[in-house]
Amino acid sequence: MAVRRYDAIIIGAGSVGLPTAYFLALEGWKVLVLDGHPSPGQGQNKAAIGGVRATHSDPAKITLCLQSIDIFSSWQKKHGTDIGWIEGGYCFPVFRTVEEKILKGILPIQKSYGLDIDWVDLERIKELIPGINEKGLRGGTYSPGDGQVSPLKFAAAFWKESRNRGAEYRFNEPATGIMLKGGRVQGVRTAQGTYHADVVLNAAGSEAPEVGLMAGIDIPVVPDSHEAGISAPMERFFDPLIVDIRPGPEGRTKNFYFGQNDRGQVIFCYTPITPIIGTNRSCTSEFMPVIARRLIDLIPRLENMLIRRIWRGLYPMTPDGIIILDRVREIEGLYLAVGMCGQGFMLGPGVGLNMAKFIMTGEPVIDREIFDSLSFYRDFYTKRVEALK
Ligand SMILES: Cc1cc2nc3c(=O)[nH]c(=O)nc-3n(C[C@H](O)[C@H](O)[C@H](O)COP(=O)(O)OP(=O)(O)OC[C@H]3O[C@@H](n4cnc5c(N)ncnc54)[C@H](O)[C@@H]3O)c2cc1C
Repeated sequence: MAVRRYDAIIIGAGSVGLPTAYFLALEGWKVLVLDGHPSPGQGQNKAAIGGVRATHSDPAKITLCLQSIDIFSSWQKKHGTDIGWIEGGYCFPVFRTVEEKILKGILPIQKSYGLDIDWVDLERIKELIPGINEKGLRGGTYSPGDGQVSPLKFAAAFWKESRNRGAEYRFNEPATGIMLKGGRVQGVRTAQGTYHADVVLNAAGSEAPEVGLMAGIDIPVVPDSHEAGISAPMERFFDPLIVDIRPGPEGRTKNFYFGQNDRGQVIFCYTPITPIIGTNRSCTSEFMPVIARRLIDLIPRLENMLIRRIWRGLYPMTPDGIIILDRVREIEGLYLAVGMCGQGFMLGPGVGLNMAKFIMTGEPVIDREIFDSLSFYRDFYTKRVEALK
């Protein structure tokens, strides 16, 4: 049985584990990343449609995603690897006063964090979304600095760069136990070996609660499934990620969103009105007819779009829809970067940067007060005011 010593062991090579490994390795830390899948990013990371925006209404999401955008957008220049970054912005077209009020209402908060977002008129929306159904269209918001990234290319790039800096990965090797002694972390056990470290990070996504239980910690994260799909490549005809926050007339969809990726494929997803809790990842017969109707109603020319495949993945949801970044006070050396909900891909690099610094120095990069709002010890059941999830 292999016995090895590391500075830190990360459980999970996903949207969060990969960048955290990269930033720790960058500082010379000896890092081991364990994952039960055969290669990086094969958990929920590859289920993401790759939307990246800082234009949230929660201060922590805004600040972390601003850092993510810096990292994503400069990646190719810094490392020479294309991760599919497109700075096409995010656009929320608006058709009803109720959505206009919501979106205009959060603009002051967003602007106070320096976000480049504004209300734009109907003519601008028509330029941004050629062929949009104009019936009832009032205008919308547009944030040109947001964008999209390929989750598959992202995972390969962060894996490669962290390995170049000394991080080790063991795939097909899930953690089966966290070793503890006298209230301190000692390392991680797998079926293949025992690995020692004074620091263990739980970045296990939708399986974070199971990993928490290995240390006797109850983590309030539940998997909530969402479906998505992708078309065959088409000539590029729109740049922004588009979010329609109207509930669907079919009574099943809360909102839907889509974009055209770096290969011209339209990639799309919706939020069901009733959450589908559980780990079932089989595609449903309902998804495609429902999303097709919504897409064609919004942009009629999409009726000829050829669908290549659909899939279903899991949002690791917390009760308040806000992520958890913290150290476990009861167990020295155990850290949590879990509960990423529907935004773990866009948060990943910002979370990785902050968790690496927090683990190394006890302080995050972002403002301490904002970081503390992500505490594992907060009241998860007090309603937080967040207009856009
Ligand atoms: C349809 C859909 C669309 C989405 N679109 C977007 C989007 O556009 N933008 C966005 O920001 N987010 C999006 N998301 C959400 C995003 O995919 C998740 O929030 C994010 O991937 C979670 O990151 P994570 O690192 O916590 O989990 P993961 O990426 O799942 O990584 C966790 C890893 O831990 C591993 N693991 C679990 N248990 C163990 C164990 N015992 N030992 C070792 N390894 C273990 C898993 O195998 C996995 O690889 C979408 C999700 C879905 C389902």
